[in-house]
Amino acid sequence: MLSEEDVLWLVDIAKRLRKVYTESLKGDDTLIVSFDERMAKIKAELERPTELLELLIHCPRCKEQHIDKGRFTKEPHKVHACQFCGLGFVACKLPSIGVQFFNGWKGVE
Ligand SMILES: [Zn+2]
Ligand SMILES: [Zn+2]
Repeated sequence: MLSEEDVLWLVDIAKRLRKVYTESLKGDDTLIVSFDERMAKIKAELERPTELLELLIHCPRCKEQHIDKGRFTKEPHKVHACQFCGLGFVACKLPSIGVQFFNGWKGVE
């Protein structure tokens, strides 16, 4: 797994590459833009947490608990849709999964 240091190193290399690349292109902006877009995508992928981020989520409007079901339990998402009132809302800056209990933290019934 990549450490934060590895990611920073790669980003630094990419910045140097971009400089050389920009100079060699002599003003072809479309290629620079696509370089930046790809780098942003790669950086986001590298920084993506490998563990699923589980959260206890409550709807900001109706206050019901949002518990993800089915495929949503495997695919972290930023925008959660309340199953009670239908509101779509962002629970956290990172993609997450709404759970009823944290793994192994289930208390008394
Ligand atoms: Zn709601
Ligand atoms: Zn959700």
